[in-house]
Amino acid sequence: HPLAPTDTNAAAPHSPPLPRQNSKTTPPSPPKFISDKLGRHQFHRVGFLGEGGFARVYEVKDSLNKRFACKVVTMSSLKTKKAKTKLYAEIKIHRSLFHPNIVTFIDCFEGDDNVYMTLELCPSGSLMDLLRRRKRFTEPEARFFMVQLIGACHYMHGQSVIHRDLKLGNLFLDANMNIKVGDFGLAALIESPGERKKTICGTPNYIAPEVLFDTASGHSFEVDTWSIGVILYTLVVGRPPFQTKDVKAIYQRIRLNDYTFPSPPPASPSVPSRNLIGDILTPDPQQRPPLLAIVAHEWFTMGPVPPYIPTSAHDAPPDWS
Ligand code: ADP
Repeated sequence: HPLAPTDTNAAAPHSPPLPRQNSKTTPPSPPKFISDKLGRHQFHRVGFLGEGGFARVYEVKDSLNKRFACKVVTMSSLKTKKAKTKLYAEIKIHRSLFHPNIVTFIDCFEGDDNVYMTLELCPSGSLMDLLRRRKRFTEPEARFFMVQLIGACHYMHGQSVIHRDLKLGNLFLDANMNIKVGDFGLAALIESPGERKKTICGTPNYIAPEVLFDTASGHSFEVDTWSIGVILYTLVVGRPPFQTKDVKAIYQRIRLNDYTFPSPPPASPSVPSRNLIGDILTPDPQQRPPLLAIVAHEWFTMGPVPPYIPTSAHDAPPDWS
């Protein structure tokens, strides 16, 4: 369905990010008993959680029965220097981040055929899975998710990290419906003030215009702000603002800042939420509001920000009255 929410991480036009593993050949499952060569890390594989561009993620248990997620990358997919550099960059960035709304990186080690990364387990899937069941979220729920997402993003930017792939599919949920930002596979570290990044990367629906169309001057932290605007729109409307059938048409709509809000209630979001989305989806990155200005917007004070979201929200909108 063309309007169904999609979150596929696909290539930007001229410079497709290199797939780190040939997705046509399914690699063999990792062993049932996962261990490093010296036997210092030992886990039992108990289930499959999902797969992304280059890794498969399993649920594992340690000897005390504590559950973790384990991201598995085959050594055969790390033959090129570029693939290794990318994986080591992801590990270096992710293991340096400690925040309640960021998936905790626990450890990484090598086995015979794979590199393993153990991560905090997010047992309730992603916001993408939840949106598919719920169609759209109530504005109080959207405020709750946005506060947590912006908190995590503000922390990352303070650590000089740009995530560059913020999207519903990379926002995982813990057992209490708290957001955990994950997948640092496209993250970048800004190493000197004013440094600009030039690599075209991201996920079509969420890519900021300067990544696509201002490749000469590059991009920086504001690309995450743009994605946060796309996420807010998607939470309250139920589909991303620039979604269309093909990727080229999505980029054309991003270039023209061409999006509209559905009009008849209940699909039409409140006027303050539309204003905030309009502020964030400003084409010029220098004119985009800072993260702290976003949480100070009227939309966050005009209605409730719930202290938590009931787990019943997995299937039905909570009653906030
Ligand atoms: P990639 O970097 O290859 O895109 P991801 O980190 O996005 O891989 O993970 C792929 C899938 O694995 C996710 O979409 C999700 O279903 C699952 N997953 C990843 N991390 C976790 C986690 N910490 N807890 C639970 N499931 C996870």
